[in-house]
Amino acid sequence: MNIHEYQAKDLYRQYGIPTGEGFPAFSAEEAVEAAKKLPGPIWVVKAQIHAGGRGKGKFKEAEAGTGGGVRLAKSVDEVRTFASQMLGRTLVTAQTGDDGKQVNRLYIEDGSAIARELYLSMLVDRSTGRVAFIASTEGGMDIEKVAHDTPEKIVTFSIDPASGFSAYHGRKLAFTLGLAGDQVNQCVRMAGNLYRMFVEKDMSLLEINPLVVTKDGKLICLDGKMNFDSNALFRHKEIVELRDLTEEDPAEIEASKHDLAYVKLDGTIGCLVNGAGLAMSTMDIIKLYGLEPANFLDVGGSASKEKVKEAFKIILNDPNVNGILVNIFGGIMRCDIIAEGVVAAARELGVKVPLVVRLEGTNVELGKEIMAASGLKIVAADNLEDAAKKITAEVKKAA
Ligand code: GDP
Ligand code: MN
Repeated sequence: MNIHEYQAKDLYRQYGIPTGEGFPAFSAEEAVEAAKKLPGPIWVVKAQIHAGGRGKGKFKEAEAGTGGGVRLAKSVDEVRTFASQMLGRTLVTAQTGDDGKQVNRLYIEDGSAIARELYLSMLVDRSTGRVAFIASTEGGMDIEKVAHDTPEKIVTFSIDPASGFSAYHGRKLAFTLGLAGDQVNQCVRMAGNLYRMFVEKDMSLLEINPLVVTKDGKLICLDGKMNFDSNALFRHKEIVELRDLTEEDPAEIEASKHDLAYVKLDGTIGCLVNGAGLAMSTMDIIKLYGLEPANFLDVGGSASKEKVKEAFKIILNDPNVNGILVNIFGGIMRCDIIAEGVVAAARELGVKVPLVVRLEGTNVELGKEIMAASGLKIVAADNLEDAAKKITAEVKKAA
């Protein structure tokens, strides 16, 4: 789960991590109110969307010269102007895709006088099983370019969870970032607090780009992209409260309500599968036979008839779907239950696209009989390859 920058900055504050002073705003009026509470003479108006690259982003319907998603205002009046130019408009950045994202929230921050822009991120490094710090002196808006052209300028090191974070790590980080004097102490303190926050809040990713040194020598986290491990959210109600559903795909929200693991993709073949591994191989074999999956959908090991129906609904709501492949291995789950679910859903929802079903496992014969006796146009397949061939052929026939 992701959160907005202004929410991330509240977390920094809770952990004593230095960041700018600022307030969220949901209207131009609120933006003005926020600006009045800050000293000036520079205010930063920042679009709040769950995507980076806002500074270099462009608004879709903007009149000429209205700038990107991060703008420096020199007066409260200018804050009002920038706010009304951003709110309700669609911001397209390198990370949003062509559709962009509508800006519904802003963050108004006290402008910082920047001397240097650095890069710092933390993540769970699966290869070492540790939390890693990734740092570079080349912070700012072009870190992807740095990673591509001069990867040696990006330094990674990890923390042994048994011994935890120590001042030594902070000094190593400070050295990597080219800090000296009191900034080393600031860095040691900040990195320790970042590590504590990262672990306590079960984050999977934290990116601070830029981490800045101000002209008066202060280290400040000027941006914050945070991602939390969704498997640990049950113990972080305070984080779940920060969820912004408007940033998420409606079909994925609906799926999560029914405890279905669903990820929308760009293809045309809807997939209904039990088990993540089987779902992945189903997607692979669809591609092998020349088509593209419309989604990843894992109904889980113990899906009920109702759950299968909800899964069908989600797939059928995707206008790109022109064929459905059901691939179930009945281990814990019985094939006859699945067959009943498929038949009920196909009947009730009026499935008009070709439907191929491959069942295997417990009570498979009974399952096949139920489908055959339903009178519905369900194509039965014997194995994974047969299923992929059949859905490809059926979709071609229907076109
Ligand atoms: P992003 O483009 O979505 O990553 O948004 P950022 O929050 O990183 O802002 C983009 C850029 O705006 C930063 O790299 C800075 O150069 C600039 N910026 C952000 N806040 C300030 C500020 O307070 N003062 C100044 N001078 N520049 C800022
Ligand atoms: Mn940034």
